[in-house]
Amino acid sequence: MLSTMQDVPLTVARILAHGSRVHGRTQVTTWTGTGEPHRRSFEDVGVRSARLAHALHGLGVREGEPVATLMWNNAEHLEAYLAVPSMGAVLHTLNLRLPPEQLAWIMRHAGDRVVVVNGSLLPLLAPLLPHLDDVEHVIVSGPGDRSALADVRPQVHDYEELLAAQPADPYPWPELDERQAAALCYTSGTTGEPKGVAYSHRSVYLHAMEVNAAASFGLTPAQICLPVVPMFHVNAWGLPHAAFMAGAALLMPDRFLQPAPLADMIEAERPTVTAGVPTIWQGLLAELDARPRDVSSLHTVVSGGSACPPSLMKDFEERHGLRIVQAWGMTETSPLGSVAYPPPGLSPEEAWPYRITQGLLPASVEFRLAGPDGRFLPWDGTSAGELEVRGPWIAGAYYGGKDGEPFRPADKFSEDGWLRTGDIGTMSPDGYLTLTDRAKDVIKSGGEWISSCELENHLMAHPDVTEAAVIAVPDEKWGERPLATVVLRDGATAGWPELRSFLGERVARWQLPERWAPVPAVPKTSVGKFDKKVLRRQYAEGELK
Ligand code: ADP
Repeated sequence: MLSTMQDVPLTVARILAHGSRVHGRTQVTTWTGTGEPHRRSFEDVGVRSARLAHALHGLGVREGEPVATLMWNNAEHLEAYLAVPSMGAVLHTLNLRLPPEQLAWIMRHAGDRVVVVNGSLLPLLAPLLPHLDDVEHVIVSGPGDRSALADVRPQVHDYEELLAAQPADPYPWPELDERQAAALCYTSGTTGEPKGVAYSHRSVYLHAMEVNAAASFGLTPAQICLPVVPMFHVNAWGLPHAAFMAGAALLMPDRFLQPAPLADMIEAERPTVTAGVPTIWQGLLAELDARPRDVSSLHTVVSGGSACPPSLMKDFEERHGLRIVQAWGMTETSPLGSVAYPPPGLSPEEAWPYRITQGLLPASVEFRLAGPDGRFLPWDGTSAGELEVRGPWIAGAYYGGKDGEPFRPADKFSEDGWLRTGDIGTMSPDGYLTLTDRAKDVIKSGGEWISSCELENHLMAHPDVTEAAVIAVPDEKWGERPLATVVLRDGATAGWPELRSFLGERVARWQLPERWAPVPAVPKTSVGKFDKKVLRRQYAEGELK
């Protein structure tokens, strides 16, 4: 029997219409660094999104075509987030921290013809333009020296002038198929070449609903959401769409992502929910320790993108009353995969082991663990295997293979179409995921596996250690052994023997690293994660001893 329900496509245009009408007075506030922050209502965002769509249409943008953004987290980027997919085009967010060659490669791969860019990022974009034959229009928003664009081939437009020149009529948003692409995002390439993931309207919509669920970020009209995670990193984890849908106010940090302005904006604007990678919270902790601010408005601080050291969670809570909630996800999973809320009715001590896992699955995401022989493992809390997932906001392929068709590399997708995450972990009988490592980072020593992540977490709990990253290095006898690279706190007194015995109290003897290297800072990827590729190269080139 067919259902008797209406079949209404789930599209970004629906989010745009709802947010700007029902939550029209809700504000998006953009931090300006000096003076008053900039404030705009959701209603105005709706009007301006329509003008942006008119403008893009006037520049020849048609359905299915990518429109690139090279922008910080701000109200104009939100307008592009809503306008571009709603008109049937595809929002392509560019990661402004990528090396220029990689950025140009990605833009060519996507075939970007129009780029919306923040003025402050022109020094990054302008030198690339001579190498980007496809780019015909550059739309510049916000302050910045525009002289770099004086002699470029593409036409240059000012965002505000372009919007002001458009008709005030509403844009005739097309009826789209919910399976059409809405947004394009490339993986940040922590472990390989960037690959494009094309999110559909349907996946963006359903994912935003999940972000708003109480078991995830719990956005409601009573919340003020501060996405510290950049809008180029997996759509700021879906928060802009979700907030517009829920009517939660947005506090946008723009380019002020350093610990001091973050602490200032939290004190001044009193956000309730925020999200970012652990390195952001590490920096904020040090800032608040040095110069305390009132951060009591925050009740949910989500950390994801890499494992959150339990010591960081403890320090934040004990010293500043801030509770970090850990979440797991990846570009291919939109990114929401799991969130670590403990079961109800537990004392803080009983809840702690749950809080330091990667968390519980939402109903729409199925997980399974594949063992080394391809068989699926039980959820017994000890059997470790590669995590495979599937669901309505999980990628089923990458965008743009050699023949222009979607492609499914065998190391990324199982034969039956599940996404192979490359993450190794266990599942508890009650559905909590614990990741022990990335497959590429795990240390294979004499037939046993050592979790680099576990060693790092223990090391970072030592008071003299600010950062620690452990990599596998070749070893004649064992195949591989761990090398611990460590950043010591200023004035630290602990030496390697002390750190080794500290670790020896927490892990098995055979897991203890024999090799230690001091580093001034652990190298980071474009989204602030430990970059072990760089460490491995440094070791191979004899730079780490
Ligand atoms: P990239 O793969 O280029 O680093 P992603 O942002 O997609 O870009 O990274 C996804 C990966 O980040 C996951 O596969 C996982 O290894 C890691 N990750 C994300 N969240 C967590 C977490 N809470 N704990 C441990 N690892 C995490």
